[in-house]
Amino acid sequence: MEYDLIIIGMGISGISASIYAKNSGLKVLLLEKNSPGGLLNRINKVNNYPGYSEITGPDLALELFQSINNLQIPYKIAEVQEIKVEGNKKMIKTTVGNFESKFVIIASGRQNRKLGLVNEEKLMGHGISTCALCDGNLYKDKEIAVVGGGNSALEETIYLSKIVKKIYLIHHRDAFRAEEALLQQLKEKKNVEIFLNSQITSLIEDKNELKEIVINDKKHLSVSALFTYIGFEPNNSFFINLNILNKEGYIEVNENYETKIKGIYATGDCIKKEVYQLITSAYDGVMASIHIINQLKNKN
Ligand code: NAP
Repeated sequence: MEYDLIIIGMGISGISASIYAKNSGLKVLLLEKNSPGGLLNRINKVNNYPGYSEITGPDLALELFQSINNLQIPYKIAEVQEIKVEGNKKMIKTTVGNFESKFVIIASGRQNRKLGLVNEEKLMGHGISTCALCDGNLYKDKEIAVVGGGNSALEETIYLSKIVKKIYLIHHRDAFRAEEALLQQLKEKKNVEIFLNSQITSLIEDKNELKEIVINDKKHLSVSALFTYIGFEPNNSFFINLNILNKEGYIEVNENYETKIKGIYATGDCIKKEVYQLITSAYDGVMASIHIINQLKNKN
């Protein structure tokens, strides 16, 4: 079967796009390799999305999933391996088979950036985490560290400070770049010790579990866990063959969210843009979808 539109990624951007496509009568299919909601599943609190004065990330993810079910939007849990362009058709190779579509929206999102230390990958899930919401309770009344200086690092430090005994907050610059409101909340936390101009230079393990972090090659801190919030990297490695990525790996799009390949669009956190927020990702998805809907209508 040929689809009008295949959307890669069931985060807020892909789901927003799919709602408009389905309501306009398009034959649409969503593809997702993990769970619907994307990064939302790893955020403890959302208070900047209109309609929800406060909601947890996983609860908002569930709401999004319910929208898909209510509207009977088809989806498949499948990892996309390649997109090939054949004339006007896009052929999408996945782990559960191949699909054909007139249009594609890539809404593949981003993942947490790594520090790049030798044993970091191995210690993931063994003391290193990128999800305070998922793993915070494992470290109740323990001493832990958080690394990063943006909104995520501060927001998650504030959340974790209510669970753990003590937090070492480590940032490689002389000032944080998080919002003022978060900086104010952080100041009130008595169990957070801040290390500025500090780089984690090694991770010391004991029996395959993180035991200590070393700062600036000299100071050793004994910790039960390290939560890393040092930004993101786009999930775009499968699209390298399309030659639509910039040098940081983000997809370049025009004002209609179309890449330089006609019929292939990209939205949300996987594209190069100014503001990475839930609401801007939803907006991107809706705008791309409407552009595609209008093109299909004009042809008929
Ligand atoms: P971010 O804003 O990119 O901040 C990443 C932080 O990690 C920066 O302080 C960065 O330092 C530091 N860093 C980068 N690479 C590093 C390395 N190798 N070692 C040590 N530190 C490193 O990422 P984010 O905080 O996850 O936020 C991402 C986006 O989501 C932002 O647009 C943010 O506003 C948004 N967000 C919003 C909210 C909210 O609205 N409440 C909450 C969370 C996130 P440099 O300054 O040197 O780059």
